[in-house]
Amino acid sequence: MTYPDDLPQMTVVFIFVNEALSVILRSVHSLVNHTPAHILKEIILVDDNSDSVELKLNLDQYVNKQYPGLVKMVRNSRREGLIRARILGWKAATAPVVGFFDAHVEFNTAWAEPILTRIREDRTRIILPSIDNIKYNTFEVQQYANAAHGYNWGLWCMYITPPQAWQDRGDETAPIRTPAMIGCSFVVNREYFEEIGLLDPGMEVYGGENIELGMRVWQCGGSMEVLPCARVAHIERTKKPYNDDIDYYAKRNALRAAEVWMDDYKSHVYMAWNIPINNPGVDFGDVSERIALRKKLQCHSFQWYLQNVYPEMRVYNDTITYGEVRNSKASGYCLDQGPNDDNSAILYPCHGMTSQLARYTSEGLLQLGPLGSTTFLPNTKCLVDEGRGRTPSLKKFDGASHSSQRLWDFSQNGPIISRDTGRCLEVEMSKEASFGLRLVVQRCSGQRWTIRNWIKPPRHGGHNIQAS
Ligand code: UDP
Ligand code: MN
Repeated sequence: MTYPDDLPQMTVVFIFVNEALSVILRSVHSLVNHTPAHILKEIILVDDNSDSVELKLNLDQYVNKQYPGLVKMVRNSRREGLIRARILGWKAATAPVVGFFDAHVEFNTAWAEPILTRIREDRTRIILPSIDNIKYNTFEVQQYANAAHGYNWGLWCMYITPPQAWQDRGDETAPIRTPAMIGCSFVVNREYFEEIGLLDPGMEVYGGENIELGMRVWQCGGSMEVLPCARVAHIERTKKPYNDDIDYYAKRNALRAAEVWMDDYKSHVYMAWNIPINNPGVDFGDVSERIALRKKLQCHSFQWYLQNVYPEMRVYNDTITYGEVRNSKASGYCLDQGPNDDNSAILYPCHGMTSQLARYTSEGLLQLGPLGSTTFLPNTKCLVDEGRGRTPSLKKFDGASHSSQRLWDFSQNGPIISRDTGRCLEVEMSKEASFGLRLVVQRCSGQRWTIRNWIKPPRHGGHNIQAS
């Protein structure tokens, strides 16, 4: 590939907290060594209030001596989290294009030219280099397959297969349309980034911002793509050198994205985290400014985005109730998918994690386990009364055959009845079973069940469902 000579200049922002000095320097050296000097206007190092002394004086002295005038330091006097740390880096940037990177990366040859070419053609493109892995224990670089960056309904990112159209084209250099980004590296026109609202400054610590930016740029008229010819390797950590509770922040930030960008589909995020939509027990802060931004930019609906940008997402609009399933006879115990490879459901002390996430659908399916989210992941299994024996089973649901063995009648605080056999899902005391409780299908004895959260009151009285 060849690229134009007169490409726009770029600022590169690295953010870090408690990173090893050697690893930061390695990122900086590799950037300077693999970026044409006339393109790299400046490097900004944002220290998100690290504890280590080494990262204060030694880092400053080293980079000033090695690269005089090239490197600016931004020191946060309190920890801002990665989202605001990136925004602070952006504020210090002066080049027309800004690249954001974790401070534990390595740039490959000619990584910048294809990116700047695409941004020069269209300033509303957010460009992601292809990510390779730096093995954390040997620092060996391992090339990854070309991928787009997707996510599940919990808004956790994951690599996904590129769209069919890209594969059909058979051109390995072509940009890969992507619904969102992994987040450790992206490049964007500096002014355009501000026009569409930077990152959500109300997000804390870690997570969700990468998905939110994907939704936002697409819904508001821009695009996001991965370039196979621009390659940056990144260390996949085994442990974060800051918070231990990033799950909490990923959840909190995901709810902000859901509330602002996802319309009715926001229920899917609450479902994926197995928390109620009203009073979720998570304070996600004030989103009114972000809602105002969406209005101002006159953005597309989430439905539009799903159809046009992320068709691989499975939707669960048929859900009536979801969450933990409890039996009147076994308080403190919940329906649970049990060990993953096993095809039987069990009763287990309630903990509210996704192995206890049930969904009862308008069709009458009772699904158990984490949401299948996308067609890249196995779909959630269904509870089935096969009519033989007394043990209900958990079976893969292919979406095609709706055998009535999978269908149940259920009303809140009522029995769960197989439409096929008329038998009830019930709990039996048993010395052999774990916790002394066994799940059975048997002649109905009047046991009652509740599923924790309502999504919407049912539209019709059809299957014996009461609105609460
Ligand atoms: N980070 C930060 N402040 C925080 C948390 C993280 O500046 O409060 C930085 C961190 O140093 C890294 C980037 O955000 O450069 C992404 O974090 P990390 O690499 O731990 O996430 P991962 O790539 O493992 O998902
Ligand atoms: Mn990282």
